[in-house]
Amino acid sequence: MGMEEKYYLGSYLEAKNKIKEINRYGKFCCDTNYKDLDTFCKKCGKLLEKKIIGSDKESIIDKWELSEKIDENLSHVDFAGKTNLSENIDIWIPNYKGYCFVEILNDNEGAVTISGKDALNIINKFYKDFKKEIDIFIKEYGEKNIEIKFGLICYYR
Ligand SMILES: [Zn+2]
Repeated sequence: MGMEEKYYLGSYLEAKNKIKEINRYGKFCCDTNYKDLDTFCKKCGKLLEKKIIGSDKESIIDKWELSEKIDENLSHVDFAGKTNLSENIDIWIPNYKGYCFVEILNDNEGAVTISGKDALNIINKFYKDFKKEIDIFIKEYGEKNIEIKFGLICYYR
């Protein structure tokens, strides 16, 4: 399945996640290709030596779990790697159609003017419409780590 480029213009939630490094281990002795469950060497019978062979970065907050907690009323956006955001920034956009102005534009050609006042109103509407979800985000990420913004997001789906 190919990835489709999508645009979203509107209010969104930006959250700072924390990254933890998780070590990847391999098992070593005189042979190769030991399985995760192997404890002793098949060849010589010695206890296998466990060594770090690399590490993976993982977010502290599980975005999939959080999606379920908020009944998927907001979706986290996945970027394909090219982004000016640092890797611990999570972006959440509403799942309600009314917020996706670019999609409205795609259906009806034309131009939409958004003034600074409109943007503020849209941010305030977001606070009201997603109060329950924002409270859950505050609990998960911490109040100082979330911000409601207005802007254009390009992502892949
Ligand atoms: Zn061995």
